[in-house]
Amino acid sequence: MRYSVFSLLREAARGHTGWPQQWRSPEPKAAYDVVIVGGGGHGLATAYYLAKEHGVRNVAVLEKGWLGGGNTGRNTTIVRSNYLWEESEAIYEHAVKLWETLSHELNYNVMYSPRGVMMLAHTLHDVQVFKRHVHANRLAGIDNEWLTPEEAKAVCPPLNIGNLRYPILGAALQRRGGTARHDAVAWGYARAADALGVDIVQNCEVTGIRRNPHGAVEAVETTRGTIRTAKIGIVAAGHTSVVAAMAGLRLPLESFPLQALVSEPVKPVLPCVVMSNTMHAYISQSDKGELVIGAGTDQYVSYSQTGGLHVTTHTLDAICELFPMARRMRMLRNWGGIVDVTPDRSPIIGKTPVEGLFVNCGWGTGGFKATPGSGHVFAATIARGEPHPIAAPFALDRFRTGRLIDEAAAAAVAH
Ligand SMILES: Cc1cc2nc3c(=O)[nH]c(=O)nc-3n(C[C@H](O)[C@H](O)[C@H](O)COP(=O)(O)OP(=O)(O)OC[C@H]3O[C@@H](n4cnc5c(N)ncnc54)[C@H](O)[C@@H]3O)c2cc1C
Repeated sequence: MRYSVFSLLREAARGHTGWPQQWRSPEPKAAYDVVIVGGGGHGLATAYYLAKEHGVRNVAVLEKGWLGGGNTGRNTTIVRSNYLWEESEAIYEHAVKLWETLSHELNYNVMYSPRGVMMLAHTLHDVQVFKRHVHANRLAGIDNEWLTPEEAKAVCPPLNIGNLRYPILGAALQRRGGTARHDAVAWGYARAADALGVDIVQNCEVTGIRRNPHGAVEAVETTRGTIRTAKIGIVAAGHTSVVAAMAGLRLPLESFPLQALVSEPVKPVLPCVVMSNTMHAYISQSDKGELVIGAGTDQYVSYSQTGGLHVTTHTLDAICELFPMARRMRMLRNWGGIVDVTPDRSPIIGKTPVEGLFVNCGWGTGGFKATPGSGHVFAATIARGEPHPIAAPFALDRFRTGRLIDEAAAAAVAH
């Protein structure tokens, strides 16, 4: 929709009360074909692809707070696909390909910016691990290249490759990696899903899951009443184990706080994303000019969205070593989110032993990058009742069979 200067002035004069809403705020119906629990990027993307690609439009997304108020709106927005194992390369690369056309697909500017993601190696072990990733990725046709310290500095001039506590021995660079605007991803999917008939219901917490005498799901209990459904997709990130427990399902997940912070805005100084797994710090610059900085997880499980102060001060020590210019900058604010971590640091996507109950979780500290790909394959899995081929390796039963997808190295700080 386009607006004239006149309409902007008219709306300003009447307190901006006349703009059309981007999505409806419907009362929940008594029953849906599919109920998605969680209105983050993954849940909204799932609903969008259910409606668009599978014709399943009688869908509700139930969100206990506001859209994107979970990790979607709290993350540092790093997008990349340079993971180690073929299964991971497939899903993260599927997502990167969708990112490339997502603004067009949703008719919403998600500000995807493939400015490059550089991962620094500080020890011989880092060098070996990252080179292994470079080789594995290139065999799979995914871009990733090895840089000397001087080449890394040429790509990112403010980087200090001199006298460091953790010297820079080289870096892996994925040029197609980058960032996107997190809120816009939630809003874009919400608007597009709503236009296809999906009901997006905010301030609606799921408090229970009802099963019929045969064990299959039949309804969700919510703060806005009971809603009948034969299919439930739990996409609740850090709270997945809490919601799954409502159906009597125990998942191999631990929930940790993960923090980030931003500086005051400055002119463009950082041309790419830089990550240091060893020093537990990663940094990029938003289009507004703020330096967006992320830390590692707290050491203890918790549902507190604040996290330990010492974690962020440690991260700032690292950032100031890597980028001495940062010493003169003021930090504006910090926050935390609750991330759900699996034993092999890979997600769980698919059916569960409870009939009609599907989960998409365990993205831990690195699921934003997967949002479009995750929603796409999860929608297919729910619609068909069978795993999408890309999702199949991420089934829950890998923790029984032992076919783990160990991405602990790719996911050390995991973004
Ligand atoms: C500080 C930080 C930095 C990060 N940086 C990156 C990064 O750079 N790159 C990257 O790829 N990933 C990153 N991540 C991880 C990424 O944010 C997540 O993996 C991803 O956003 C998860 O999306 P989601 O839609 O599954 O979850 P969320 O956006 O958290 O959505 C889940 C929703 O479920 C809702 N919910 C929970 N319980 C209920 C209930 N009972 N009823 C109804 N609704 C409920 C919540 O309110 C929430 O809105 C980071 C995370 C954090 C916290």
